[in-house]
Amino acid sequence: MTVCASDPLPPQTGPANGYPAVTPVSGRPLRFRIETWGCQMNVHDSEKMAAALGSLGCRPAKAEPAEVVVLNTCSVREKAQEKVFARVEQLVGRGGERPRLIGVAGCVAQQEGEAIFGRAPAVDFVLGTQSLVCLPDIVRRLLDGETRVVEIGRHPDNLDIPPEQIDRIPGVKAYITIMEGCDNFCSFCVVPFTRGRERCRSVSSIVREAESLTASGFQEIQLLGQNVNSYRDPEDGRDFAELTDAVGAVPGIRRIRFTSPHPKDFSDALMDRFAGGGPLMPHMHLPAQSGSTAVLERMRRGYSREEFLELVGRARRRAPELALSTDLIVGFCGETRREFEETLTLLDEVRFSSVYSFKYSERPHTLASKRLPDDVPDPEKTDRLVELQARQRAIQLDLHRDLVGREVEVLIEGPSRKGGQLAGRGPDNRIVNFDGPAEATGSFGEVRITGFGPNSLLGEPLGSLAPRRLPGSPAAPAADPGAEIPLPVVQQAMGGGHSEAMRSG
Ligand code: SF4
Repeated sequence: MTVCASDPLPPQTGPANGYPAVTPVSGRPLRFRIETWGCQMNVHDSEKMAAALGSLGCRPAKAEPAEVVVLNTCSVREKAQEKVFARVEQLVGRGGERPRLIGVAGCVAQQEGEAIFGRAPAVDFVLGTQSLVCLPDIVRRLLDGETRVVEIGRHPDNLDIPPEQIDRIPGVKAYITIMEGCDNFCSFCVVPFTRGRERCRSVSSIVREAESLTASGFQEIQLLGQNVNSYRDPEDGRDFAELTDAVGAVPGIRRIRFTSPHPKDFSDALMDRFAGGGPLMPHMHLPAQSGSTAVLERMRRGYSREEFLELVGRARRRAPELALSTDLIVGFCGETRREFEETLTLLDEVRFSSVYSFKYSERPHTLASKRLPDDVPDPEKTDRLVELQARQRAIQLDLHRDLVGREVEVLIEGPSRKGGQLAGRGPDNRIVNFDGPAEATGSFGEVRITGFGPNSLLGEPLGSLAPRRLPGSPAAPAADPGAEIPLPVVQQAMGGGHSEAMRSG
C-alpha cells in the first residue's frame, strides 16, 4: 500500500490542460466511468475527475465496459455510504472481467481513508475530496505496477482548478465552486470532517471561470459552496453579495443560482439582490433542519425557530417573489413528538416551495455521535417522515394552484421526467412541463401555467421555441434521431444534484 504525502503536486509540466506530463496509457485509450452519489458539489467534482482522466488519454466508456471505474461517494447518510460498498461487490462479482482499476473518491474516501481496503479489498485507490488534482498521478502509478494508493491530503490547488481542466456535462447550467468546507460543525453533520475547513476562491478567479462558461454557451451558473454566505474573497474581502454582482456582470449570464446559505449568516444586502431584477434568480435553498428551538440547539445550528421565521419574513418583505426551499431532518436525537410537531407547523408558516426531508442517521466523528444518543426508534422516524412529506405535499399543491394562469420564462432543460414533453425551470426553480420540440433544449421560452401536480407545473408555450445547441455537446440532442448521442461522462448513481439538496448551510 502506498500512502501519498499531502504535498502539492510537482510543478505542472504537462500539456495545455496543466496536469503533470504523462504518456498515453496504452496504444488504445483506456475507457473510464465515474459514478456519482450525492450533491451538486460531487457532480462537479466528477466533472473535474473526468478531465483529469482525459489528460491521461483515457476516454469515457459508452456501451463497452469501463476499465477504470471511479465511485464518487457521499457519506451524508449511512445508506448512501453502504451502497458504495455494495457497488464495489457488484463490479467484481458479476462473472465477467472486473475493471482494471476501481477507485473510491468523495466523502466516504475522505472519511474512511485506507480503512476502505479492509471493507472492500478490490478497491485500488482512495482519493479524498481535497486531492482531485492527484488523480492522473495515481492512475499512472497504479498502471505502472503500484498497488493500493491512498491520497486524502489537502492540496491547495484543488480548490482553484482552471476551467479548461473541467469536463462539463453537456447541459443548460454549469457549476462553479466558490468555496469548500465548513467551520460550523453542526452536531449532526459530517461535512467539516469530509470537506475540511472553509476555503474561498478569489472573485477574479471565479469571474474568469464564469467568462469561460459563457464563451462555451452556458447561460445559467450555479455557485457552489457548503456555506456560501460566509464567502469572503481572500484577496480583497468582498462578500457573497458582491460576488453575485461580479458574476452577474459577466456578459451572457442570464441566470445565477447558488447553494447553500446558512440562516445565521444572512445579509440584507443579499436579500436586496433577489429583488433587483438582475440575474440572481428569486429562489433560495435555506436549510432549516428543524422547526423546534430545542432541537436546533442540540443540532448547534446557531438560530432559534423565531430567528428563522424572522429571517424568512425579512427576506419576503424585501423580495416578495422569493421562493424558499429547505432541508429538514426528522428523528434527531431526543426529538419528542411535540418537537416534531413544531417542524410541521414551520411548514405551515413558511410554506416552502419544496422540502428535502431525511431521517436522522448518525455519522462518524460528529458531536452528536459522541454525545447524543440516537434514540428515536427507526419506525417512528419513518412515520414522522411520511407525515411531514404528506403535509408538505398538500402545501405544494396549494401553492401550485395559485400559479395557474401566470406567464413565466423557463430555461428548457430537456425531456420531461415522464417523457413526451419538455421540462423547463422557471425563475423560482419550479419545473414546468409543456409540449415542444427537443431541439429547443437550452433555449429560453415563455409559457403559461395551465395545470399542476405536487412536484411540477403544466404549461403551454407562448410563441415558438427556438432551437439551440447545448453547451458541451457537438449537436443539438435528438436533432437527428439516428445519430449517436454522446453519453454523459459523469453518471449519477443516486440522487445527486437534481433530486437531493447539498447537505450544507
Ligand atoms: S449542516 Fe451545513 S453549516 Fe452545518 S456543519 Fe454541515 S455543512 Fe456546515
